[in-house]
Amino acid sequence: MKIKTSDIVISAVAPSQYPEDMLPEIAVVGRSNVGKSSTINTMLGRKKLARVSATPGKTRTINFFIINKEFYLVDLPGYGYAKVSKTEKASWGKIMETYLTNRKNLQEVILLVDIRHEPTNDDKMMYDWIKHFGFGSIVIATKSDKVSRSQLQKHLKVIRQSLQMSKEDKIVPVSSLKKQGIEDAWHHIEELFIE
Ligand code: GDP
Repeated sequence: MKIKTSDIVISAVAPSQYPEDMLPEIAVVGRSNVGKSSTINTMLGRKKLARVSATPGKTRTINFFIINKEFYLVDLPGYGYAKVSKTEKASWGKIMETYLTNRKNLQEVILLVDIRHEPTNDDKMMYDWIKHFGFGSIVIATKSDKVSRSQLQKHLKVIRQSLQMSKEDKIVPVSSLKKQGIEDAWHHIEELFIE
């Protein structure tokens, strides 16, 4: 995919602020610190559009980025940060549920997991949840520069098995640091629009 333009439209704190033009939306979600902001920035070829967080787990907004004036890339709030309170967790759940159940224009929710580790229980629950809504056909394994080439497939297999991904589901290793896997990720996203 050629990214001609990308801009943040809104960092929404309430559903009333979500865009209403019904352009297709591709959302990304993952554990805090998984590399979501870095991945978004790299995919858009922008340095600082999505903020790389100094204090993980503090953002409870849904960020809508408009791409090529054609669709939105939607940055959902991260989860799994140990230090958040029960109230904050509940508020995260409410925000997510409202978004996932109400967006008719939502085409896909992409889960980001760290390539180095077996997915956490939170990752597994998140994946089950998005599958329940009919999404999750693409998983991005972040920080792929952290594993050696010879170990890459093994790590991808562990993630596939752990999340119980089906054969048709895609897993894409991405390194925002080395700018690897970006084309592949976009390619799979483009396929969603063609279908
Ligand atoms: P977020 O909380 O999920 O948005 O994660 P960030 O994008 O803020 O990244 C969390 C940390 O992981 C930061 O210290 C990043 O520099 C680091 N990071 C992100 N992507 C990569 C990557 O592809 N490779 C490596 N080695 N580090 C990364």
